[in-house]
Amino acid sequence: MIEVKDVHKSFNDNEVIKGVSLSLNEGEVVTILGPSGSGKTTFLRCLNFLEIADSGSITINDQKVTFGEASVDEVLQLRRKMGMVFQNYALFLNKTAKQNIMEPMILVHGYSQQQAEERAETLLQAIGLPEHGNYYPSQLSGGQKQRIGIARALAVHPTVLLFDEPTAALDPELVGEVLKVMKAVKAAGVAMIVVTHEMQFAYEVSDRVIFMADGVIVEEGSPQQIFEHPKESRTQAFLDRFT
Ligand code: ADP
Repeated sequence: MIEVKDVHKSFNDNEVIKGVSLSLNEGEVVTILGPSGSGKTTFLRCLNFLEIADSGSITINDQKVTFGEASVDEVLQLRRKMGMVFQNYALFLNKTAKQNIMEPMILVHGYSQQQAEERAETLLQAIGLPEHGNYYPSQLSGGQKQRIGIARALAVHPTVLLFDEPTAALDPELVGEVLKVMKAVKAAGVAMIVVTHEMQFAYEVSDRVIFMADGVIVEEGSPQQIFEHPKESRTQAFLDRFT
């Protein structure tokens, strides 16, 4: 359903993604683990065209886009199939929670005001914030802001959601409420690619775990394979830091 092939990305002379490929079935959850600086965020941003990869391609359902060759229209069309959740939430501070969820629905996806409002209210309910639609981000906790970020990404029925360290900026006591919403997203059958340091989440929720270091996939497998029987010494050394 989603096929990413041989992505390369350099910043000046520094090649940070060195031929990464990944495929994902419908509703599958893949987590990407790895040390800081290994290229995880850059890879995710390339998939969503927030960075322009030097080469490689991404196919979602039947639409293939080759990095560096696609027209703006093709990129926008592919992008509509993805949602992204950021570490720092990336909410509009001068808009309410509900307006944040509605904005892409109306501006990018052509929903009517009423359709967008109905969907936003359903999602506010689903993320456990039915009473918070009129709150501004400054009036919400980090965990609540991130739940709004997830609702916004989910609102337009994406084929795949990309998460870039969604709980990294949160106080530890707020991490659980965000992970709970992410588990519900999986249960709803939405495919997810999640960059995270939450090992328990990766173990429990992923269908597949990828360990990345120095811009390459060092090892990938089921959570059991990666956490209990890593083959590569670099994977083992990384995981040892968390136990
Ligand atoms: P990770 O998410 O695994 O911590 P990143 O993708 O953030 O890794 O970074 C990978 C490498 O790319 C790092 O060496 C980082 O300094 C470099 N990098 C990331 N973004 C930029 C940029 N916009 N310009 C130059 N170098 C960058």
